[in-house]
Amino acid sequence: MSEKRPMVAVLTGAGISTDSGIPDYRGPQGLWQRDPSAQEMVTIGPYLASTEVRRRSWLMRRDAGAIGAEPNAGHRALADLERAGVPMRVLTQNVDGLHQAAGLPARKVIELHGTATEVQCARCRVVGPMAAALERVAAGEDDPACEQCGGVLRPRTVMFGEALDERVLAQADAVAKACQVFLAVGSSLQVMPAALLPRIALERGAKLIVVNGEPTAYDEAAHEVIREPISEALPKLVRRLVNGDLARA
Ligand code: ZN
Repeated sequence: MSEKRPMVAVLTGAGISTDSGIPDYRGPQGLWQRDPSAQEMVTIGPYLASTEVRRRSWLMRRDAGAIGAEPNAGHRALADLERAGVPMRVLTQNVDGLHQAAGLPARKVIELHGTATEVQCARCRVVGPMAAALERVAAGEDDPACEQCGGVLRPRTVMFGEALDERVLAQADAVAKACQVFLAVGSSLQVMPAALLPRIALERGAKLIVVNGEPTAYDEAAHEVIREPISEALPKLVRRLVNGDLARA
């Protein structure tokens, strides 16, 4: 008779994507903190108000897209966890879509800060693929507008100056309450709501495992802290979860 497998919540931050060549923009050493003119490009007020800010932000996204980031062994390990039939959800602070690109079904991924793989019209709210907008930029449009209504197109991310989506927050809260194992991966766990979710899980008796290169706010409260590189640590952790070794905390 097979053991009941624990429900696993996996919170992921910038650290899981750095091995895919995506810099930690938001972190303390990140571009947004170091360069105020760069931060304008991801702040809702200046973005909506200034054609010049939008032009620069489209060029930035074009250049970022040219990197062609691919999922790494960490992303793939989490997709393997799902394929193995372990009940799980990923709560991600990242907007890069790499969990889905690794094969995780979209319904398993809760994107706390939205996604940079899609654009949305700030006026009529129609959603479209980022790739199509970037094609228009490559073809010479420096500030592609909504093709339905002419409104400003923006990435479907939560920009600075914007609140997180209430429905997304409620989903994340429910997952933190329901899980038996909570993995916190590649996040300093300092930015809301990532700062709160492990606490919610711990209060419901979940086992907390932290995987991060640097110390986090939860290292003392965690049952296990792993400092190995994420793309090495996650495949091993996933094997333990699939075998049920982490159910018996
Ligand atoms: Zn529109």
